[in-house]
Amino acid sequence: MTEDHAPQDTPRNVDQSSDQIFVIVGGGLAGARAAETLRSEGFTGRVIIVAAEKTVPYIRPPLSKGYLQGHDDRDSLDVHPAPWYATQGIEIVLGMPASALSLAHKTLTLGEGTVLHYDKLLLATGAAPRHFDEPSTHLTGVHHLRSADSSTLLRAALRPGGRRIVIIGSGWIGLEVAATARGYGNTVTVIGHGAVPLGHAIGDEVGAVFAELHRDNGVNLLMNTTVHAIVGGEHGVTGVRLGDETLVPADVVVVAIGAAPNVQLARAAGLPIHREIPHGPISGITVDAGFRTTDADVYAVGDAASVFHPVLGTQLHVEHWANAENAGPAAARSMLGQAVAYDAIPYFYTDQFDLSMEYSGYPSLAAGATVVFRGNRTAREFVAFWLRENRVVAGMNVNVWDVNETVQQLIGTRVVVDPARLADLSVPLEELFEARGATQRVTD
Ligand SMILES: Cc1cc2nc3c(=O)[nH]c(=O)nc-3n(C[C@H](O)[C@H](O)[C@H](O)COP(=O)(O)OP(=O)(O)OC[C@H]3O[C@@H](n4cnc5c(N)ncnc54)[C@H](O)[C@@H]3O)c2cc1C
Repeated sequence: MTEDHAPQDTPRNVDQSSDQIFVIVGGGLAGARAAETLRSEGFTGRVIIVAAEKTVPYIRPPLSKGYLQGHDDRDSLDVHPAPWYATQGIEIVLGMPASALSLAHKTLTLGEGTVLHYDKLLLATGAAPRHFDEPSTHLTGVHHLRSADSSTLLRAALRPGGRRIVIIGSGWIGLEVAATARGYGNTVTVIGHGAVPLGHAIGDEVGAVFAELHRDNGVNLLMNTTVHAIVGGEHGVTGVRLGDETLVPADVVVVAIGAAPNVQLARAAGLPIHREIPHGPISGITVDAGFRTTDADVYAVGDAASVFHPVLGTQLHVEHWANAENAGPAAARSMLGQAVAYDAIPYFYTDQFDLSMEYSGYPSLAAGATVVFRGNRTAREFVAFWLRENRVVAGMNVNVWDVNETVQQLIGTRVVVDPARLADLSVPLEELFEARGATQRVTD
């Protein structure tokens, strides 16, 4: 590390002596897994995690589920217990956001002062919840969910029960919070843009399953609805005004309208940032399949990155736990000079009321594809497959277990399947690989 500033600015847990320095910006799951892999792959130089949050890296999925419900305790979220980092010789600077990056000098500025030199740098800065562009978003009683602290605050607001909770956004997090809020005995309204929740993510046909699930559990779904404003005063939020001027009264409002990748450091340093459509929303720091930016010593991973996917042949931005879990290690191997072409099939899961599901596949290919259901949709026990030219591009198992690996194989091998046999519960899924005639392996 080069010291360009007064020694008292240097965090005490950063060792001053060493040559090869790998710095990871962001103490989330991707950053923690990358640091862990650097060590397990035998890297003996210094590994420094620079973390904006004051706690060691933790996982976020329970923040809208088990932790928000009060079932999981805070320690169970930690990727590793705090002392583990020292045992691995991983230095971790907590509560200190990196504020500037100089590619020319290979330095990272922490907060307002300390400057760290790096030999290799990994940007694992995650994402931040989107806000409405208006002051009422800061009213007492308006919540955004991303950190453990924000989940603790929201839990305190939901726990008493009997309150009017309005959730803006009918995506994964909005629906998970709705289920948790109902579990505490609140009145819950979810407001969404599309005809059904999750329509943009999984299409209207499968999104309808989630609509029914929530309605069956007493959630008031206001779909095809736009929010005009969050309203309230000095005593806090009082409601949500819709586009047609209707006021939906609220004691608590949860804004769950998606997240934006944290690209500020990279952008200010001049690194390319990807947008799927010109002038559209940012989809992450542009990296190749080995997580390399255009700067040879700077990498990006996790929610912050848009990674070239060799199978799709396009950039892919994935905001899911499994991506942070698996791509973090892959990025670390790439930093160590190993050949990496990350081609994992995106995977995620959700738990809402009595529905648990796993999804594997490429949402961009699944959009507009033919959906085949295998199992009982009404009982919410099925596997849904999205087919393009009779090849599976995505699959979702709902309250059906031990099939995810097979679903991934169907996607990965790109076998041509017979939709009727795929839907037929009497035909084992494995047979779709084996049967000659009904399936044909594609080798291109
Ligand atoms: C409430 C919630 C529920 C979720 N549920 C699911 C689920 O059920 N299934 C699923 O697959 N995925 C789920 N996810 C998504 C999953 O948690 C994320 O994909 C994952 O956390 C991404 O990990 P990451 O390390 O890339 O980013 P993050 O976890 O966001 O970590 C990035 C870290 O970098 C820090 N940082 C940012 N800028 C700086 C800076 N300049 N300097 C230093 N540090 C910085 C941030 O403070 C943060 O701590 C959920 C997410 C949330 C918020």
